[in-house]
Amino acid sequence: MRFFVAMVSHETNTFSPIATDRRQFEARDLRYGGEILEAYRGTGTCLGGMIDVAAAQGLTLVPSLAAAASPAGRVTKAFYTEARERLLADLRAAGPIDGVLLDLHGAMVVEGIDDGEGDLLTAVRAIAGPVPIAATLDFHANVTRAMVESATLLHGYKTYPHVDMDARGREAARRLTEVASGRLRPTAAYRQVAMLPPIAGQLTTRGPMRRIYDLADAMEKRRGVVSISVFAGFPMADIHDAGLSVYVVTNDDQGQADALADELAATAWALRHEFLHRGLPVKDAVARALALDGRPVVLADVADNTGGGAAGDTTEILRELIRVGARSATVACLWDAAAVRTCQEAGVGATVNLTVGGKVDPTHGAPLPVSGRVRTLSDGRFVHKGPMMRGLEGRLGPTAVLDVNDVKVILITHRWQTLDPEMIRFVGIDPLGEKILVVKSSIHYRAAFEPIARAILEVDAPGLSSSSLERLPFTRVRRPIFPLDDI
Ligand SMILES: [Zn+2]
Repeated sequence: MRFFVAMVSHETNTFSPIATDRRQFEARDLRYGGEILEAYRGTGTCLGGMIDVAAAQGLTLVPSLAAAASPAGRVTKAFYTEARERLLADLRAAGPIDGVLLDLHGAMVVEGIDDGEGDLLTAVRAIAGPVPIAATLDFHANVTRAMVESATLLHGYKTYPHVDMDARGREAARRLTEVASGRLRPTAAYRQVAMLPPIAGQLTTRGPMRRIYDLADAMEKRRGVVSISVFAGFPMADIHDAGLSVYVVTNDDQGQADALADELAATAWALRHEFLHRGLPVKDAVARALALDGRPVVLADVADNTGGGAAGDTTEILRELIRVGARSATVACLWDAAAVRTCQEAGVGATVNLTVGGKVDPTHGAPLPVSGRVRTLSDGRFVHKGPMMRGLEGRLGPTAVLDVNDVKVILITHRWQTLDPEMIRFVGIDPLGEKILVVKSSIHYRAAFEPIARAILEVDAPGLSSSSLERLPFTRVRRPIFPLDDI
């Protein structure tokens, strides 16, 4: 069998002032043709899983495009149009194919198009005709009717932190072969629930999402059930369809799919209050971390998570660490390309006076004047050690470590969420030796940091991925919706 394969991935925070243009994709990932298979083979990603199955089952993959950028504001119309046209031209030129495999996100918003993946899948369907289409979607997908109607199968990640991307890629590829060979006739049910859970309340190791997935996992074992995805949704997207949704696929039994989807949607709704989340005020969190025995204590800057489209340059926790004279602390990582350049020009060992961070959005804290020593400089290339994205190269761009009285600030040029201790290790800092590690991440850091942390404290600092959704100026999301409305 021959499967067309492509990846287009962006999680769009519509409140972010940073437009996602071609340069943002070039900085993270923009590849074409056979190079995609070389880059993703053996990695803990959806594409990695799809490539595994193709090798094991002797499938031929026809690779088109892989485009991903760090979460930020809307994708520019110019880049989206370029990527879409390239993918569609490749699909037309692909010759006879038995299926289409897409690695998508599901929360991409384009300038002028609120439902990016719905638009893309509709266009792919128009060319693919009756050929089955299977797409993987992020756990944070804001799933729409257009996506459900255009795709044959959707496979959402079932974990947050996302440690099952390769498993979902494998599942999508296997199910697509079953549909293509006529062994499976998917019937899908989709339910949107009137809830917008904050991301820091969405983890799947415990709490309400775990309970929903325990039920879904049990349902998935029943006769006739093909797959179940419960999408927690991405709340920092002011679009009609943001929020939690349920998607159930059965084998040629619409009634069964509908009944299971209704039960899951009702369960999620009943648990809505348990998703609410609030961290510690900055001063309390820092004081408590310093008072704890043992190391490292992780301070999670959940509101400045670049993985949720926040800037990654807020300074309030760093400001407090310096104010109280904390030692043996690392802030990972602060996005400030200009500060990196200042450090590069001064050189390793030099003392520099500069302001760091706070440059994107003044409502989330001001730039912080500091005086420190340039400890190391690097090109920002590292390899993820996992569990997330194991084996995949990360590119932080030119990177500097600024040492301010033993508060080390990792300054980066390309935004990337602190989800892997390797991002601290590769610049010469031993994360196990630090008293305090500040990570800019809402949940993903837990996969790799929980096993090494003495304690974890979630901090309620300012930022665009804050759990306090009522601070955001929503105008387009469907109402009423919990927790914006008290329903
Ligand atoms: Zn996600």
